[in-house]
Amino acid sequence: MMDAPDEKEVAVTMEFARHPHPSPIAEERRREILVNPGFGQHFTDHMVSIDWTRASGEAAAVSSAPHSGGEWHDARLEPFGPLTLSPAAAVFHYAQEIFEGLKAYRHDDGSVWTFRPQANAARLNRSARRLALPELPEEVFLEALRVLVSTDQSWVPDGDGQSLYLRPFMIATEEFLGVRPANEVGFKVIASPAGNYFGGELKPVSIWVSRELARAGHGGTGAAKFGGNYAASLAAQLEASAHGCDQVLFLDPVRDNAVEELGGMNVFFVFADGSLVTPELTGTILEGVTRSSVLQLGRDRGMNVSERTITVEEWREGVASGEITEVFACGTAAVITPIGTLVDGEDSFTSPAVDPTTSVALDIRRELLDLQTGHGDDRHGWLYRLV
Ligand SMILES: *Cc1c(COP(=O)(O)O)cnc(C)c1O
Repeated sequence: MMDAPDEKEVAVTMEFARHPHPSPIAEERRREILVNPGFGQHFTDHMVSIDWTRASGEAAAVSSAPHSGGEWHDARLEPFGPLTLSPAAAVFHYAQEIFEGLKAYRHDDGSVWTFRPQANAARLNRSARRLALPELPEEVFLEALRVLVSTDQSWVPDGDGQSLYLRPFMIATEEFLGVRPANEVGFKVIASPAGNYFGGELKPVSIWVSRELARAGHGGTGAAKFGGNYAASLAAQLEASAHGCDQVLFLDPVRDNAVEELGGMNVFFVFADGSLVTPELTGTILEGVTRSSVLQLGRDRGMNVSERTITVEEWREGVASGEITEVFACGTAAVITPIGTLVDGEDSFTSPAVDPTTSVALDIRRELLDLQTGHGDDRHGWLYRLV
């Protein structure tokens, strides 16, 4: 069936069965939560689930053709709640899983939009290929977001800096302890109202340089949005905390300690000569949607934009000489956050303080937020209506 020439149409018309929550969270409680939702602490009433089963007789091999050798089925909207999985489900043992993260924003007229979801769908499939998971057609990914957000639209907050964070993920659900790509997989989307990630204030984050521990290696999974990369970053994050820092910076020891990224955010440098620089994608860096948007907005404003190697040494010297005027981190959750002090063993130095009247980081941040909340000029067609 899925190999038929009209397979795309089959995907487009995938029907979602609807199993509404019998006792959703009371409106009063929901309103209370939405006043100050924090990040990732509260969840909406529903989730979307779609299962995948490898066609019987198919070899458990990674296929280059989208979802060949298997079928997505049983798409459904159901109450948010605990999953029932075998303790032998592959995801618990071999970490075969991937995820995405994007936000839905309420516009002034009450409509709900998200930002470049096609980029997330494409990245999910790149991650899927790396983790030997099945690809999900983009139309199904988008429909899953629409089904969930339209059902739980009362959970989309409208306060300043607020949004509904959407977390699609895919896990190997098959009960099997042998090591091979699972024959049964689940794709789910859950949603969580979000306030300002770092508490609203744009206080510069302090950074600990991880010289011993890496989150990713060459040929590894660093470019995939894979939970294992996060697990690998946690010990370094503990080190950062022990040294009084907010976040950890990972380097590439193979390339002269080139700057890679933070545990979950990409890094940018603003130079006095109008250049905007971010580390190039080498396979150990996650290609952020925010990163690519910032690159485009930089180009739009006539900055000299480049993706290139930048080392901690260049960073230190650039700050000392005044050539580097701003350093910031970016990602969906926190949007753009200035980077302040960098602690590198015994050494430490501080990137210039943010001057709100001249800051490129704050300006791009404002531009991005305006766009996402429907107050900007969507010249690149980045907005996508969900409700
Ligand atoms: C998700 C993620 C980012 C940011 O990506 P966005 O698409 O901008 O949210 C950066 N680094 C890592 C390791 C990530 O997992």
